[in-house]
Amino acid sequence: MKKTVALIAHDRKKEEMLTFVLDHKEQLRNYDLIATATTGKIVKEKAGLPITTYLSGPLGGDQQIGARIACQEVSAVIFLRDPLTAQPHEPDITALLRICDVHNIPVATNVATAGLVLQSLD
Ligand code: PGA
Repeated sequence: MKKTVALIAHDRKKEEMLTFVLDHKEQLRNYDLIATATTGKIVKEKAGLPITTYLSGPLGGDQQIGARIACQEVSAVIFLRDPLTAQPHEPDITALLRICDVHNIPVATNVATAGLVLQSLD
């Protein structure tokens, strides 16, 4: 069964996420990708990778992905947070990081760590 990798990027990090995905496209093809709505749309349209999308983060997408993590259905999370801008859904972001820690799921919050996490997933 394919491993599942979750991708989430805040607005000011979406460009960086797209670059990361394009740089790792062949490897990411091996996984079932899931994402919040806008991040997933960008990955689908601009990188041409199949991806299952949930709601946008502010509408509950982080919580939907968190539920899959809680069910042990996600192998890694790449979550490019914007550290400089307050987000309206901050509690959900904290909850997502918490659930990764509860279940010991690797979560990368910058592209340097994301690269290392992907390397070790194979
Ligand atoms: P988005 O959600 O991909 O729909 O923009 C991400 C977020 O802000 O958590």
